Amino acid sequence: MRNTVPNKERMKIPRRHMPERNAQVRARNFEEVNLGFDPKSANLEAIRCLACLKPTCTKACPVAVKVKDFVDLIIAGDYLGAAAKIREDNALPAITGRVCPQEEQCEGDCLVAKRADSVAIGHLERFVADYERETGQIGIPKNAPPTGKSVAIVGSGPAGLSCAGDLVQKGHRVRVFEALHELGGVLVYGIPEFRLPKSIVKQEVDVLRQRGVEFETNVVIGKTVTIDELMNDEGYDAVFVATGAGLPQFLGIPGEHLNGVYSANEFLTRVNLMRAYRFPEYDEPVYDCRDRDVVVVGGGNTAMDAVRTALRLGARTATLVYRRGEEEMPARKEEIKHAKEEGVIFRTLTNPVEMIGDERGWLTAARCQEMALGEPDDSGRRRPVPVAGSELVLPASIVIVAVGTSANPLIQSTTPDLKTTRKNYIEADPETLATSKPGVFAGGDIVTGGATVILAMGAGRKAAKSIDEFLTAAVW
Ligand SMILES: Cc1cc2nc3c(=O)[nH]c(=O)nc-3n(C[C@H](O)[C@H](O)[C@H](O)COP(=O)(O)OP(=O)(O)OC[C@H]3O[C@@H](n4cnc5c(N)ncnc54)[C@H](O)[C@@H]3O)c2cc1C
Repeated sequence: MRNTVPNKERMKIPRRHMPERNAQVRARNFEEVNLGFDPKSANLEAIRCLACLKPTCTKACPVAVKVKDFVDLIIAGDYLGAAAKIREDNALPAITGRVCPQEEQCEGDCLVAKRADSVAIGHLERFVADYERETGQIGIPKNAPPTGKSVAIVGSGPAGLSCAGDLVQKGHRVRVFEALHELGGVLVYGIPEFRLPKSIVKQEVDVLRQRGVEFETNVVIGKTVTIDELMNDEGYDAVFVATGAGLPQFLGIPGEHLNGVYSANEFLTRVNLMRAYRFPEYDEPVYDCRDRDVVVVGGGNTAMDAVRTALRLGARTATLVYRRGEEEMPARKEEIKHAKEEGVIFRTLTNPVEMIGDERGWLTAARCQEMALGEPDDSGRRRPVPVAGSELVLPASIVIVAVGTSANPLIQSTTPDLKTTRKNYIEADPETLATSKPGVFAGGDIVTGGATVILAMGAGRKAAKSIDEFLTAAVW
């Protein structure tokens, strides 16, 4: 079909828009916002692809998904084939199709974008992955015969899960240890239901289970058992550390100890894992947002998730306070658009300087200062500078601080021969992800600092390759 549409005509076909739930309705529930393409939309969108000889989209993808090939299969109506093609490079397409920052990766380098809107590669990825899942036809690859070697994986986020999938396929025994009671890392405790339904992550985990991966939850490695004990006493031949960067950072301003001030990680974990989003069916374990003023500090995906969650929990006002301008916000453009449509108030160029409380220690307001943009800083973004005499007080019963996270520290402090960076991230060889401790590999946010799902997955796959070589080829 593609060949029948000349390039010039293809460029005239408008990008298909992702259908969404009504903004006013969705702002008060946790149902998924984006509804996905139907086959007709997917095919029309796929035809827009120029089938470039040297596909820049694949080059711009951190795991080099063969975009042109899977789009070709969509055009041919072979959706399962398309999903299988993506899975050759990306183990979690239903997840990345929803949360990857495609506009900066594959779609950012799409040649169509030179003249028109880029091909909606992310939406197409989501479409075939959902088709595969909804029709119950997820292709389960065959494992190689057992090698007799076993690998412990610490952390069940995207890095741990993708490493587990690749290693079990090579015939190794794989056991994933997770500190929390649910599997998936940030995919379940951080990213809310309305962006990434938990059932999708659960299904991916179930597929890994069917493929033979073992999982153990509620095990804090470094406390319950150390890395040395895993290797020396429990007989694991190698370990992959994928513990993420979940340690919250705070602003360091007066009043942050007040009741009602949360880190975004704590707030989102309580809502996502303790099911506050299904209140009143579940007892709500966070401070009641209903008819209160909620302020969220930050401009990244985490801030956007927290403020939209507060709105859904019934906040009277949900305000985002960010010290730079909207242009500088690191959050995905789609999240910013959705938040605005839902009624989130954006207060850019504003920075909190103090949390104000009552005599009983409960938060009542955030004192803020207006900012202006000065010269660019090390990050290349213009530095925010305070505007003298511009203080304002925002009434708030809840403030959620989403200004970044740092390395989860437990493994580093209980594994003396593991080299770390100045900021306590684990040092790993960029090519092999081997650490300073023989047999121990590390990847994902615990090495790079907070990054993206696809980069964490890419690290998991890279580590799996190195671990397999370590276990079988004796090249180390
Ligand atoms: C709220 C939020 C929204 C985000 N939105 C996006 C987005 O839209 N798109 C995107 O690409 N990226 C997004 N990110 C970033 C992305 O989710 C992370 O980069 C990615 O999850 C990192 O994967 P990981 O496997 O390295 O670590 P994680 O996902 O953090 O998983 C680490 C796991 O290790 C476990 N663990 C830690 N210590 C131990 C221990 N000692 N013993 C056992 N288990 C342990 C943790 O409980 C956790 O389950 C978001 C992050 C947050 C916080």
